[in-house]
Amino acid sequence: MRLPGWRALAGRLAVVLCAAQPGLPALAAPQLDLTVKLEPAQGSLSAQALIALPAHEAIDLRIDARHRITSMQLDGGALRASTEGGLQRIRIAAAKQPRRLELRWAIRADAPDAAASHRDTLTAFAPQIGEAGSFLPAGGAWYPLPFDGAGPLLHRYRLTVDLPAAQRALAPGDRQLDTVRDGRRTVRFDMAQDSEGADLMAGPWVEAERSVRSIDGRTLTLATLFHPDIADQAEGYLDAAASHLARIEQTLGAYPYSRFSIASSPTPTGFGMAGLTYLGVDVLRLPFIRHTSLPHEILHNWWGNGVYLALTGGNWSEGLTTFMADYALREASQGEDGARAMRLDWLRGLSALSPAAQGRLADFGGRTHDASQAIGYHKAALVFLMLRDTLGATAFDSALRDFWQTHRHRRAGWPDLRAAFEHASGRDLGRHFALWVNGSGLAAPTIAGAVAGPDGLTVTLQQPAPHYPLAVPLHVRISGETRVEQVALQGAQARVSLPLTAGCAELALDPDFRLARRLAPGEAPPVLREATLDDTLGLTVLGDERLATAARTLTAQWLDRAPGAIDAAQPPGRASRMVIGSFAAIDGWLARHRLPARDRDGEVVAWAMRAPAGGTLALVAARDADALTRATRALPHYGQQGWVTLAGGRAAARGQWPAATAWTKVCVR
Ligand SMILES: [Zn+2]
Repeated sequence: MRLPGWRALAGRLAVVLCAAQPGLPALAAPQLDLTVKLEPAQGSLSAQALIALPAHEAIDLRIDARHRITSMQLDGGALRASTEGGLQRIRIAAAKQPRRLELRWAIRADAPDAAASHRDTLTAFAPQIGEAGSFLPAGGAWYPLPFDGAGPLLHRYRLTVDLPAAQRALAPGDRQLDTVRDGRRTVRFDMAQDSEGADLMAGPWVEAERSVRSIDGRTLTLATLFHPDIADQAEGYLDAAASHLARIEQTLGAYPYSRFSIASSPTPTGFGMAGLTYLGVDVLRLPFIRHTSLPHEILHNWWGNGVYLALTGGNWSEGLTTFMADYALREASQGEDGARAMRLDWLRGLSALSPAAQGRLADFGGRTHDASQAIGYHKAALVFLMLRDTLGATAFDSALRDFWQTHRHRRAGWPDLRAAFEHASGRDLGRHFALWVNGSGLAAPTIAGAVAGPDGLTVTLQQPAPHYPLAVPLHVRISGETRVEQVALQGAQARVSLPLTAGCAELALDPDFRLARRLAPGEAPPVLREATLDDTLGLTVLGDERLATAARTLTAQWLDRAPGAIDAAQPPGRASRMVIGSFAAIDGWLARHRLPARDRDGEVVAWAMRAPAGGTLALVAARDADALTRATRALPHYGQQGWVTLAGGRAAARGQWPAATAWTKVCVR
């Protein structure tokens, strides 16, 4: 994911942003000169900002209220800050002559918590300073961020960091200096483009570098900044970064920065910032990350950290990055079968969301929990897939290259994407964007019926309101031959004629899952996530107090909210339910409710099952409470599986239940 900029502060800023600012004319993007002294062992940072204010320009700066401003001067005269909404604000009205603002402040921060969960790292933006690593996201206002009435301003900066020689520092921008003298290191970053700000990271890193040539002929530096215990992975990551970068440049155009760095974090982060990615040490150890998270974060240099997000109207960058990195790589490496499996995963997750949890893409800010990921990443990726299927790859790719050239280093939103796709295709996409981006929910097209006539078979497709503009792939199998009819379903109904005058045809609506639609009950075999994503999920625990405690810890890790308890005697119905217990207790419960028996063994076995009444069951059977506790960290990672067995807290085996396309048979007599 992309580091969610200032939105981390949204709650605290809400009041501030509504306040009009009379007397402040529109602000130009300022240039900040930041000098920082970082002491990881002391958990402290002292800093100075110099801002040259041109004549006739005002400025409105905001810095986290927890940081102690030690001096503040405007042309040598004293100045005061006010505190509002957790931020200290410094407002300076325009003047006839150029002026110089100087600010000094100090930050004390805790060391990063290596035990933090990934979910914690998505929402924590307080500065962290420690010997294992330091992280000061710009969105946390660790330095005075320039604002106007609408929100934070893009700005340029020069950042000079002084820190112990054993540590290295990283921030977006060209690295212009990295020298060691008298036991201290000095590093300078110059951000010469309008940017979203200086995210500062440091750590006891070993650096490796490689030069590559960009598509427009520049020399780019690829670098890894890894903790010593993973330093041997540098070559593999540099190889992967070089190949992903070249592939993306082929599609979209030249990489917009001079360096790309991969830095390791002591906490399980997964962030992309301009020109760098910041991934947890334990994340980087996983062998697949260089082909999954890495290309995703590299692509964010175009989407999100190259074209920045508009301050309102929704985050389009995760969906587009998921579509062009995660999905494109799956398509390239595993072919259509792998791509289809990914689309099915997305539709499963989306179909599992209750109507209340079906948010709008226009409201998606960033990933905070699994449901927001399903919408902001997966539904948005499907919206781009449907666009490509409708417009064709040529117009689709040309629209994105045009969008990139027009909006790089500026903010842009969904309406700008719409304009680019309309321009490239010559089509009005108003309804597509109105329903998919500004509306919530999924399409639900079905085969309504088929009527035989003298000219053949007329098949009617229908969909409930709202009527999405759909190009429905209708698979038609006649005498063993399958062909695909693209049926334009714009309103409530559409008809298509098939040249069948005798015999039977079999029909399947979108069996390859190319539409953002609600899966029909039973259309796909169940996976664990179908239950765990359902915000109406109930919980039944079978076992003693020790097992119940372990079960509570597991559900706190796994679920976005605490589920309501359901009595074991209540038979499974139409609602989703998680049932946790010992092997004997679960086996007994299944038998009592006449459900299929468990057919897998291990220390812990979890599997999804569809109850006869339609509800999805997530069953977790454990040898004992200790085994369940050991599985707590791993289990939530296997939501896309139909079943998983664990031993020693790790997955031993996993898989999905087999699926078959449901064909509808229609005959002409
Ligand atoms: Zn992302």
